[in-house]
Amino acid sequence: MENVIIIGSGCAGWTAAIYTARANLKPLLLTGGQPGGLLTTTGVVENFPGFPEGMDGVELMMRMQKQAERFGTRVEYGVPITKVDFSKRPFQLWADDQLFESQTVIIAVGASHRHLGVPGEEALERKGVTYCATCDGALPIFRNQPLVVVGGGDSACEEATYLTHFGSKVYLIHRRDQLRASKIMIDRVLSNPKIQPIWNSVVEEVRDVPQDKVTGVKLRNVQTNALTELPCAGVFVAIGHVPSTSLFKGQIAQAPDGYITCQSGTNTNVPGVFACGDCVDRTYRQAITAAGTGCAAAIDAERYLTSHG
Ligand code: NAP
Repeated sequence: MENVIIIGSGCAGWTAAIYTARANLKPLLLTGGQPGGLLTTTGVVENFPGFPEGMDGVELMMRMQKQAERFGTRVEYGVPITKVDFSKRPFQLWADDQLFESQTVIIAVGASHRHLGVPGEEALERKGVTYCATCDGALPIFRNQPLVVVGGGDSACEEATYLTHFGSKVYLIHRRDQLRASKIMIDRVLSNPKIQPIWNSVVEEVRDVPQDKVTGVKLRNVQTNALTELPCAGVFVAIGHVPSTSLFKGQIAQAPDGYITCQSGTNTNVPGVFACGDCVDRTYRQAITAAGTGCAAAIDAERYLTSHG
C-alpha cells in the first residue's frame, strides 16, 4: 500500500516527487512511456529560472529525478497504467496484470503532440514526418534538403530555427498571417534568411505514400483556396498538444477536450486524487508552471493524508 503514487515524469511529476519525498511520504513514481516528458523533446531551455546560460531539457529532467531520488522517491520505469479505479480508497491502478494500491494519486501525465490529421501524415511518420526537431532534425534524410515546419507558436519557431542548421531551407507554414509565439522567437524566425514563412496556409496532404518517403506537401491558401505543391524532405508538425488523459475517462471530471478539471488548487472531483502540469493547464504550459503545480499537488496530497489518514 502506497501513500502517494505519482503518474508521469515531466516537470510536474518530478516536482511532486521531490516535495512528497521530503515530506517523508516515500512516493512511488511511474514514469510512463516517455520518461522525462515533453521537455526531453526540446533543446536548450532558456527560461527556467536559475539557469542564466540555459539548460538542456534532458539534463534538467535528469537533475530533477536525481533530486527526487535523493529524498527517497522510488521510480518504476516504463510502466504504462492501463486501468484505474478511483471509486473508493485505496485507489487501484493496473499496469496490465500488475496492481498498485495507494491512499492518494497525483496525476501528472502531461500532453502529447497534436497531429494534423491529413492524408499521408500517419503513413509517413518516421519516414519524414516528425513531431520533434531536436530528436530527428539531424537525421541524414533531412541534411541539405528543403524542410517544412507547420505551426505558428513558440514550438514551431523554435523548431524552424533549429532546423536551419540542417536543412537547405526551412518553410514555416502557418494558417494565419501572424505568429502567436513570444517576441524573441518571432524576431529570430523573421530575421533568419534560411526561414521562409508561408502565411494563411494549411497542409492538405503529405506526399508521397507510394514512394514510402516524404517528397513534398500539398498546401491550400485559406483565403483564396488555391492549391500549391511544395517539395520537401521533411515535415515537422508543431501545432500544439492534447492532454494524455484518455485513461481517466469516466473516473475523474474532464473538460470535453480532455483536460482534467480541478475544483480548487490541484483537487480533482475525487477526494485524494490530484492533478497537475500540462494535463490540467491549457493556458500557460511552461516548464516552470508545471513544476509549480507539481509542488502544489504534493502539498495538497500531504495535507489530505494528514487529515484523512
Ligand atoms: P501553441 O502555442 O498552442 O501553438 C500552436 C500553433 O499551431 C498555433 O500557431 C496554431 O495556430 C497552430 N495550429 C493548431 N492547430 C492547428 C492545425 N490543426 N493546423 C494548423 N495549425 C494549427 O503550441 P506550442 O507552440 O507547442 O506552445 C505550447 C506552449 O509551450 C506555449 O505556451 C508556448 O509559449 C510554450 N513553449 C515555450 C517555448 C519557449 O519558451 N522556449 C518553446 C516551446 C513552447 P493559431 O495561432 O492560428 O491558433
